[in-house]
Amino acid sequence: MQYDYDLYVIGAGSGGVRAARISAGYGAKVAVAESTFLGGTCVNVGCVPKKLFVYGSHFHEEFEDAAGFGWTVDAKKFDWSVLRDNKTAEIERLNDIYRGLLSSAGVDLHEGKATFVDTHTISLNGTQYTAEKILIATGGWAVVPEFPGNEHVITSNEAFYLPSFPNKVVIVGGGYIAVEFAGIFAGLGADTTLVYRGPLFLRNFDDSIRNFIKDELPKKGVKLKFETQVEAIERQGDTRRLVFADGNTMDADLVLYATGRKPNTANLNLESVGIELGRNSEVLVNDEYQTNVPNIYAIGDVTDRIQLTPVAIEEGMCIANDLFTDKPKKHMNYNNIPTAVFCQPNIGTVGLTESQALEQHAGDLVIFESDFKPMKHTLSKRDERTFMKMIVRRSDDVVIGIHMVGPDAGEIVQGLAVAMIAGATKAQFDATVGIHPTAAEELVTMREYSREV
Ligand code: FAD
Ligand code: NDP
Repeated sequence: MQYDYDLYVIGAGSGGVRAARISAGYGAKVAVAESTFLGGTCVNVGCVPKKLFVYGSHFHEEFEDAAGFGWTVDAKKFDWSVLRDNKTAEIERLNDIYRGLLSSAGVDLHEGKATFVDTHTISLNGTQYTAEKILIATGGWAVVPEFPGNEHVITSNEAFYLPSFPNKVVIVGGGYIAVEFAGIFAGLGADTTLVYRGPLFLRNFDDSIRNFIKDELPKKGVKLKFETQVEAIERQGDTRRLVFADGNTMDADLVLYATGRKPNTANLNLESVGIELGRNSEVLVNDEYQTNVPNIYAIGDVTDRIQLTPVAIEEGMCIANDLFTDKPKKHMNYNNIPTAVFCQPNIGTVGLTESQALEQHAGDLVIFESDFKPMKHTLSKRDERTFMKMIVRRSDDVVIGIHMVGPDAGEIVQGLAVAMIAGATKAQFDATVGIHPTAAEELVTMREYSREV
């Protein structure tokens, strides 16, 4: 049977674009469909605009800190529309770059919503395309739980395009997006409260980090309200009144829900091909990203595993390699994936948390910790601290977890992740000469352990 394409990719986000370009580079005839925005979540309503906002939200601290270094910075004024519109212009520039990347790789771009007709046929804008293999890379979308008044909230998607900047914001959730946006809104000048349903946010992160960041965020103006469930939201003019389960209320101009994301599988007519989905409607795949229908594959957020851009990209690399080369199958290493939360100060982390390490190696662990005032703040007098933690397996001296809170934690932990992938031992960290004066040198000068567990 002759197909129109060797590979038809649905979704031109982080994973889909990479799989399409690399497959085309290996000689495959490839098309990619995109319904909304080139570059997907990361470029349009995720990593990139978020990081630009994080940069923007830091300036007021820089202005304040400058005083201790002899600078006078007068007349500080923030104009939301400038930040928002400059960000949007940059995103549009990136959209064009993505268009260019696809076209120079020889990939056909089909703009519109793709749906399955059968296991080898896709329908888009009234035209049908056949393909030998189909890759679902449709990502996910923010979900807001069902409760009375949930129509009065926004998600991170809308936060990037607010018509005006709010005075008072409540953010509901306790994951990456909630803490990052709490830092953004507080840093840009809004009265910001983060409301989380459990006793301590950032579940799945190392407990020391969670506790440390709980103490740091309020210093940046973020109010934390834990063990609080929202029951309803009432709208009174421009004010949103949150009604909590304990009967208390709180008013805000803006309520942002950051309560997780759901895979984009509802819009694909997957029933027509019988693709198996999991409990959160994610596409179920085997180790080679293959669904229960042998010629249909899925990668990235739509599989609801590790929702990070570099993961979707690497899965795209694996798929292209496995489907269109004779090289040995490429298996992504899901261990030691480094990640950063761009709250303020940043969290950077790689490897096992202390509780995960305890589950696997109890009685064989030594924990090194350091908590100090960053040098810059000796003159700025800002009350901000940095925290570092290293988890070492005593029997073979291998470093199995590094966790940090502090400026540029993501930048620092990226390099350390290479060492961990290489299986570095604590002795090798100790044998590494520090770069002085930096915060990162602390990680090669931790001599005394804090605890044996
Ligand atoms: P996506 O990038 O979401 O791409 C899927 C694409 O498919 C979309 O463009 C969508 O429009 C398209 N599509 C869907 N259905 C169809 C259809 N039927 N037909 C055609 N096209 C369709 N990750 C990080 O690593 N670092 C960060 O700092 C970071 N920050 C984030 C901040 C926010 C606010 C959010 C929401 C996410 C963030 N992420 C971050 C996560 C990251 O954005 C995702 O993990 C990544 O984009 C997933 O890539 P993907 O290719 O699986 O899906
Ligand atoms: P997360 O899954 O990280 O966090 C969701 C949060 O919402 C959790 O704290 C959860 O609480 C809470 N929650 C879930 N349901 C409800 C509910 N019904 N009522 C109240 N609270 C609820 O999702 P995010 O939306 O923050 O981010 C999605 C993913 O995007 C992240 O997991 C991450 O992989 C990726 N991302 C990565 C970033 C980065 O790399 N810097 C930045 C932003 C996003 P509980 O813990 O109690 O379940």
